Amino acid sequence: MFATLSDRLTATFKNLRSKGRLSEADIDATVREIRRALLDADVAVSVVRAFTGKVRERALSEEVSGALNPAQQVVKIVNDELVAVLGGEQRPLLFAKTPPTVILLAGLQGAGKTTLAGKLARHLREQGHTPLLVAADLQRPNAVTQLQVVGERAGVPVFAPHPGAQESSEGGVVVAPAADPVAVAREGLATAQARQHDVLIVDTAGRLGVDAEMMQQAADIRDAVRPDEVLFVIDAMIGQDAVATAQAFADGVGFTGVVLSKLDGDARGGAALSVASVTGRPILFASTGEKLTDFEVFHPDRMASRILD
Ligand code: GDP
Repeated sequence: MFATLSDRLTATFKNLRSKGRLSEADIDATVREIRRALLDADVAVSVVRAFTGKVRERALSEEVSGALNPAQQVVKIVNDELVAVLGGEQRPLLFAKTPPTVILLAGLQGAGKTTLAGKLARHLREQGHTPLLVAADLQRPNAVTQLQVVGERAGVPVFAPHPGAQESSEGGVVVAPAADPVAVAREGLATAQARQHDVLIVDTAGRLGVDAEMMQQAADIRDAVRPDEVLFVIDAMIGQDAVATAQAFADGVGFTGVVLSKLDGDARGGAALSVASVTGRPILFASTGEKLTDFEVFHPDRMASRILD
């Protein structure tokens, strides 16, 4: 991810290197290049506008500090503003004063929620927590099984509806038990309390597109378990759709933080660069592959450095 954007920005800065002083025209030309590079990377137009406005203003007004030449000064400003767009300081997960801490995962189908549930559970377990995963995605026929598989790999127990009485088959395809996902989430919470798990991670159903019924279900689950964190999982490959999708989840369910998934892909990175700024919510984690270990705590400053390297 970001390879093209990174190359474009590096080329832009290279053009400045030979210049002893930067004129207003030099700065305007640079800002124009940055604008084009960001737009071509699918960064949301509103974010690009605010970003380039700040870079221009600072490049024109700030004194060049002793240690940096004018080109390095511009790189520093772009770096600072990238960090700001990506959310500024790293924001750690917030734990409840009285356990269990409840984390609800929301996002479109295929965004990477179930995979992330396993990664997060593993990460928390390694930090000494005792998480319980809850399979409240009863929409996708194999979502419960998938969570059980990742739970097993992560060494974390999974609370799932019991297959059996309500389970049925249609043309050889096993249909998930028609249990109520809100009830499953509620029972999962009671189980975590009874067995003294200190973190509960609830996986919810997504649809391929934004859907009122799905949103309502996620909101009902939220109301039933009163999460400390609602993490919106977004596929970084979805480009320009990211902003509208994030906005729909912000309005429909509300979220406290973002997880970027599929950052290992070769998408242009616009979603990753837009979503914190557009939603005003920090990016907490990044998912970078299909394995449980392909998981990172998200650091805005490290991501900015990676882009500008
Ligand atoms: P859900 O529908 O939101 O629960 O999404 P899943 O967790 O089932 O993920 C959908 C697909 O994306 C699966 O094939 C995952 O293996 C894959 N996937 C999830 N996260 C990542 C990631 O960070 N990188 C890559 N390359 N694939 C991922």
